[in-house]
Amino acid sequence: MLDFLGDLRRTHMCGALRAADAGKKTVLMGWVNRRRDLGQIIFVDLRDRTGVTQVVFSAEVNAAVHKKAEQLRNEFVIAVTGTVKKRDADTVNSHLPTGEIELVVDELRILNVSKQPPFLPGDTVLANEEMRLKYRYLDLRREAMQLNIELRHKVALAIRKNLADQGFFEIETPFMTRSTPEGARDYLVPSRVQPGAFYALPQSPQLFKQILMISGFDKYFQIVRCFRDEDLRADRQPEFTQIDLEMSYPQPERVWETVEGFLQSAFKAAGVEIKTNFPRMDYDDAIRKYGIDKPDLRLPAFTDVRDCFSPAEIETLAINKDLPVIAVRIPNVGELSRKERDDIKPLFISKGGARVFEDFKRIENKNPGAGEKIRQKTGAAPSDLIVLVVGTAQNAKDDHPAGKRKVTPAEAAIYASAGLLRIALAQKYADRHGIFKKTGDPAKDYRFLWVTNFPMFEYDETDRRWVAAHHPFTSPHEEDMDKLETDPAMVRALAYDVVLNGTELGSGSIRIHRQDIQSKIFHALGMTKEEAQSRFGFFLEALEYGTPPHGGIALGLDRIAMILAGADSLREVIPFPKTAAAKDLMVEAPTPVSEAQLRELGIRVVVKD
Ligand code: ASP
Repeated sequence: MLDFLGDLRRTHMCGALRAADAGKKTVLMGWVNRRRDLGQIIFVDLRDRTGVTQVVFSAEVNAAVHKKAEQLRNEFVIAVTGTVKKRDADTVNSHLPTGEIELVVDELRILNVSKQPPFLPGDTVLANEEMRLKYRYLDLRREAMQLNIELRHKVALAIRKNLADQGFFEIETPFMTRSTPEGARDYLVPSRVQPGAFYALPQSPQLFKQILMISGFDKYFQIVRCFRDEDLRADRQPEFTQIDLEMSYPQPERVWETVEGFLQSAFKAAGVEIKTNFPRMDYDDAIRKYGIDKPDLRLPAFTDVRDCFSPAEIETLAINKDLPVIAVRIPNVGELSRKERDDIKPLFISKGGARVFEDFKRIENKNPGAGEKIRQKTGAAPSDLIVLVVGTAQNAKDDHPAGKRKVTPAEAAIYASAGLLRIALAQKYADRHGIFKKTGDPAKDYRFLWVTNFPMFEYDETDRRWVAAHHPFTSPHEEDMDKLETDPAMVRALAYDVVLNGTELGSGSIRIHRQDIQSKIFHALGMTKEEAQSRFGFFLEALEYGTPPHGGIALGLDRIAMILAGADSLREVIPFPKTAAAKDLMVEAPTPVSEAQLRELGIRVVVKD
């Protein structure tokens, strides 16, 4: 049944033919997307990555070809030559770009056959995801996936072009390297020639890009794979792609401008015109207003309504008067039933003893004055949902190492509890408020934000020590340098995140470029001199050879593509992704390896049960 291409050359793509092509002799090649056999006439929708064209095999026009077409089945690969014909008015398919024409075939070559696939690219109901990932090559033939991968390509290309135009060089850095501290576990690669020694796959090219600044490539970027072995959540992949960049001598604003420039190009490639400059917000303000460092600006901010209650009311409601009383407002949720109000409770995750008043009606009834004031202060319409998140006595302890911060840990616990509830409620009632629906207006649909001035350190309660909030190469604010050892809680970092609709797209910082300060930071993080030397000795040495001030950022390409594709999983925009258990179901990786291979590497596997 197999046939040969011979002298045939494809003259058109399947999705490209239009009425103006009528009368043209054409060669098309592609897959049999669908076949309808009406006896004397057989219709095949022929598909390639550009779309489908209806091709017609008519017994009347060419009996031999019609006979051969009877063998065609789903996903056979064929070449046809024929003449483009305008369809009769009553058979025009207005849903199809090629719907005004069809190809009347006079030669058919069957280039390859296909087994009956477990699912078809044209199926309207999706196969389950395991099946899709196992037969990824079939899944990728689906139009939606073809469009996602095309979009990803266009976005990446636009970013490359924009950065190249801004004077950046794309420079590769090694995959087989040593551990980089981005806070996850490393994937390790054993060395055969040095048994017992391992390379680590990079969690990011962080140190290499800084070294490139020392090497004089003052504007570097790379669209690069990074590898992090972490417990996977819905929006994580063990290998993912970053748009990584670094530049010499920048103020943070220069980095932001650069990013805004390439994001504008990337979004344009997807047909979305976004406006720059993005608004900026201090980390402390983000926490106070939204309870999270990646606020979704499409939803209203919190209101502190502590002053709406009288001291007596505060007392009766057992509210901690020294802590914020947060009103979370979700627009247009409408009247909630008793049961719906009860359903709010399980959505509430209490941090540090924070409490929720999910039944605002009841508060209003018992405290009409306060209720009225709260409605006014929050600007709530009658159909808006209001819930209150308050502190209790448990929240009050502030002998915490970060107790002197502008937002104290006790306050932060309330803001964080309210922030999580705000998002959970907004998601639960998304159909009612409609805020997450695309409006076609980029200013409403894509709310970008720079979050700046993060704290330099976070306190790790379990290990009882300070850890780097970003990574240990981030520069502190000049004016906070003297507090590095005396008061680490109060040191702010020259770090920034770019956030879109509640998703962190990327994060970066101005780096430390002086060896003495870098050593101090390692020390503040509890690293001994010897430890710092053994892990980062090469880098500390490099810093001593005339390192220019520098800074940069990295953004997740997969995430950007996912948002632009309107997809709800990274797996929809990664050609060959892994499952939540970090498996590739198509190639069946990871796998055990042979004894011989292990022996050669000097490795023995001990399986824990
Ligand atoms: N290397 C950092 C990361 O992957 C980004 C940066 O600081 O440039 O998160």
